[in-house]
Amino acid sequence: MRTVRTTVELREALAGAGQVGFVPTMGALHEGHLSLIRAARQDCDVVVVSVFVNPTQFNDQGDLAAYPRDEDRDAALASGAGADLLFAPSADQIYPAGYATTVRVAGVSEPFEGAHRGAVHFEGVATVVAKLLIAVGPDVAYFGQKDAQQVAVVRRLVADLGLHVEIAVCPIVREPDGLAMSSRNIRLTTADRPRALALKAGLDAVAHAVRSGADPRDAERRGTMDMHKLGVEPEYLALVDPATFAPADDLTRPTLAIVAAPVGAVRLIDNLTIPAREEA
Ligand code: AMP
Repeated sequence: MRTVRTTVELREALAGAGQVGFVPTMGALHEGHLSLIRAARQDCDVVVVSVFVNPTQFNDQGDLAAYPRDEDRDAALASGAGADLLFAPSADQIYPAGYATTVRVAGVSEPFEGAHRGAVHFEGVATVVAKLLIAVGPDVAYFGQKDAQQVAVVRRLVADLGLHVEIAVCPIVREPDGLAMSSRNIRLTTADRPRALALKAGLDAVAHAVRSGADPRDAERRGTMDMHKLGVEPEYLALVDPATFAPADDLTRPTLAIVAAPVGAVRLIDNLTIPAREEA
């Protein structure tokens, strides 16, 4: 595996490449990221992984400063999972002096993560994803279902900008006890780690309530109660349409249960696809 730091080197390295698969990341790689790289390895001739801690998508500067960074470790893991090229640009490579262009995806980026982290979050995500897709020019780009609203924002942006790339979405990789893997999990204290299971417990309670015939708002309330039992207060726990993130009212169609909650000093998110309920 080779590491490149500029878009010029990247284009040179990819000239004449066959099917290119691309996995954008912010580093601190774990099994969730590696599942995307392995999927790309299976499907494509050349696998590009980017590692870029994108400053513009952080609404909280403390979170940006605390974000784990270890490029040597990331390079070894990416290579082991089958990456051919690691794109590790500096911030001024992505945001040149005088940078003045922002990609904003209206609608789907506004509720939930958009409301809690501010418009700056998905503007930062949409802008950097658009720039990376233009720089790499992949045939397929791989994203994790873990960041479900990000997937919906990226799908909208790819359709709206007419980018010629297929978006592949890989399932959430979890720890054996059910906690969704995240680069932020290492910041959970030993005392907080068991409480982090509240997110998955809340989602499971919503799924159970839907199966038992509850209406959407009642199912959300039951999930919230289960989280309270574990001492965690969700920022939101909601049933939504997976494409638009509008509140779901019709449970005879597949919906998505989404949750975000602070656990100690760490903000976590998770989600669960809820299959369509058979009409009575
Ligand atoms: P990040 O480095 O957090 O920006 O994540 C890079 C990519 O990895 C995104 O597409 C994430 O959705 C994906 N990802 C992160 N955690 C997981 C996970 N536990 N399972 C599957 N994909 C994940």
